[in-house]
Amino acid sequence: QVRVRFAPSPTGPLHIGGVRTALFNYLFAKKNSGTFYLRIEDTDQNRFVPGAEAYIMEALEWLGIAPDETIGKNEKFAPYRQSERKHLYKEYADQLINSNWAYYAFDTAEALDAYRKADEEQGKTFIYNHTNREKLDTSLVISQDETARRIAAGEHYVIRFKTPVDETLHLHDIIRGDVKFETRLLDDKVLFKSDGMPTYHLANIVDDHLMETSHVIRGEEWLPSMPLHVLLYRAFGWEAPEFAHLPLILKPIGNGKLSKRDGDKLGFPVFPLEWKSEEGISSGYREKGFFPEAVINFLALLGWNDGTDKELYTLEELVDAFDLSRVHKAGAKFDPEKNKWFNHQYLIKQNNEDLAKSFAPILESKGFTIDKNQLTKIVSLIKERAHFVSEFWDLSDFFFVAPTAYDEKASKNWKAETPALMQELISVLEEITDFTSVNIETLVKDWMTKNEIGMGKVMQPFRLSLVGALKGPHLFDIVELIGKEETIKRLQKAIE
Ligand code: GLU
Repeated sequence: QVRVRFAPSPTGPLHIGGVRTALFNYLFAKKNSGTFYLRIEDTDQNRFVPGAEAYIMEALEWLGIAPDETIGKNEKFAPYRQSERKHLYKEYADQLINSNWAYYAFDTAEALDAYRKADEEQGKTFIYNHTNREKLDTSLVISQDETARRIAAGEHYVIRFKTPVDETLHLHDIIRGDVKFETRLLDDKVLFKSDGMPTYHLANIVDDHLMETSHVIRGEEWLPSMPLHVLLYRAFGWEAPEFAHLPLILKPIGNGKLSKRDGDKLGFPVFPLEWKSEEGISSGYREKGFFPEAVINFLALLGWNDGTDKELYTLEELVDAFDLSRVHKAGAKFDPEKNKWFNHQYLIKQNNEDLAKSFAPILESKGFTIDKNQLTKIVSLIKERAHFVSEFWDLSDFFFVAPTAYDEKASKNWKAETPALMQELISVLEEITDFTSVNIETLVKDWMTKNEIGMGKVMQPFRLSLVGALKGPHLFDIVELIGKEETIKRLQKAIE
């Protein structure tokens, strides 16, 4: 029975890397008819950010990858917030003390700093484990009575894991294959603090076990924690889940991991939803005008493909095609331009009525109310050129307002003979009763052929008069939509 989790710490808005982790967990769960649950890892109270938890839930909901189980939803293993599971962890820490897999440590922050500095001066890295056992202030070197006395006296302590002295761990990762770790290089990590709070490591393992997690799918930054986690399962006598560490998402240019700050630098969102804080506003995919399906699609391809050239997938198709063992080891470059391309693909697939509905409020804010059918036609003409609905106005403003200036470069097509030609064109247009694109085109072209007038001589000045520049969709579609009266008015104005 596949049970996977997304276990973010609510320390701020969900970064796009976190969203990808959630997505791969979701896909893996659905592919295997399993369960995808969301657990909030909020044991580090110094880093707790109000609003982050709600943000995470809203983001997953918007993207269409909401968990099957979480706070307030199918609470089979409640609570799903670690701060509310606080009472559970001490017992497990004690269990490890009793089985000699963990010990109390009293070292002060100053003492630890001094050890670190001293080792650094000798070009070494200080490791908190058996290699330094004698100098460390722990229950492994002082008596049991002394330990009990110091704890009773209220001295600050932590409970640390007792890493095996010298063992080579041969572990398996679904994406990375066999990975080797030497225990003598590992720190005896803190599991529990005297303030009654577990650290990430202890809470994470206890909960993954109690919540019956079958696979741990998470970012590569957690790979160094894997040996400790596997050892913790061993220490508890529990079966460990399988592990899969996802590749990093890299900056578009240069090296290194895509950071939260890159978003502002690129002028491109790295968050699913907008996030407001004292430091300012970070833009989100939703507010920028991305379709959730497009975001899902490009995220799925950051570090995975199905072995073909296929790029466009619905969520169902992704579920179908997804295979954890096909996830790449190497980091995946984040490509803002490609992300826009994906959005364009989804935009052109939308039906025109829906797009018109999204465009209408923009027009209303500019003071235009346009007939629904008319707007639907306009949208159908311009969407091929847009990545976002927010670009519709710039692509279609001439449908709503007559040009007030004419593109200078294009004006060289405006010759001495042009005004007379445009005047004749007006007469031709005035005669047309069935004012539809195809009919107008036929009749205007008939007139040109009959009088042996070259296409360029009419079409370019005509377009310039209506649009103000040599851009826009098929000219006769514009003419139909603007209507006879307005078309003639614009031509007359251009002649003046
Ligand atoms: N709370 C950790 C995080 O913020 C979870 C890591 C894991 O999935 O084990 O990413």
